[in-house]
Amino acid sequence: MHLLVTAGPTREYIDDVRFLSNPSTGKMGFACAESAARKGHRVTLVTGPTGLPDPKGVRTIRVVSAREMLRATKEAYPEVDAVIATAAVSDYRPARRARGKRKKGEKEISLPLVRNPDILATLGRKKGNRVLIGFALEVRNARANALKKCREKNLDWIVLNGPSSLGAEKMNAAIYREGRLEKKFTNAGKRRVADWLIRLL
Ligand code: C5P
Repeated sequence: MHLLVTAGPTREYIDDVRFLSNPSTGKMGFACAESAARKGHRVTLVTGPTGLPDPKGVRTIRVVSAREMLRATKEAYPEVDAVIATAAVSDYRPARRARGKRKKGEKEISLPLVRNPDILATLGRKKGNRVLIGFALEVRNARANALKKCREKNLDWIVLNGPSSLGAEKMNAAIYREGRLEKKFTNAGKRRVADWLIRLL
C-alpha cells in the first residue's frame, strides 16, 4: 500500500515575521507514517512545521502554509491508495501578507482573513478507490459534528478527539464509520492508535 499522511500545523504569515497557527506538534501523523513504514508500506508524509525528525523509511515533504500543503498532497495523490489526514490546517489566512514587519501604532487594528482550501475535502471529491481517514477535533456536539464531516468530506473513517489531544502524548479517540462507532480509545498512546489505524487499512 502507498499511504499519504498529512501532519502538523500550518503557518499563515501576517508579515515576514508573524503568523497565525496552532499548537499541533505533528505527533499523530508522524506516528501513523512510522507505523505504516514499519509494516513495509510506502509512505509520503506531508507535514507543516514541527520539531520532529523525518521518520525512517518515509518520504517526508515539509511545507509551511495550507496552500503549500494542498499543492504537495495533490501531487502525491494520484499514486496513493489511502490517506490519513491528521494535519491541523488553519481555516483562515491573512488576506494579504505584508512585506517586512508591520509597525505597531496606538489604535486598534483589524486583520482581514480569507478562507483556506479544505485539503481533505478537495481530495475527497476525487476519491476513486482510495480509503480516506480524517480526524475531527471537536468541543461541542462532538459526535454529530464529526459524523457530518465524515459525510461531507467523503471519508471512510473519522477519528474524533478532543482539544486535549493537541500536542499531547496520549489521547482519547472514538473512530466512526458510516455513522457507527467502531472503536474507542481512552488515554491511549498515539503510537497505539496509529498501529490500529494501519491494521485497519
Ligand atoms: O473541518 P475540520 O478542520 O474539523 O476537519 C478536520 C479534518 O479535515 C482533518 O482530517 C484535517 O486534517 C482535515 N482538513 C484539511 N484541510 C483543512 C481543514 C481540515 O485537510 N483546511
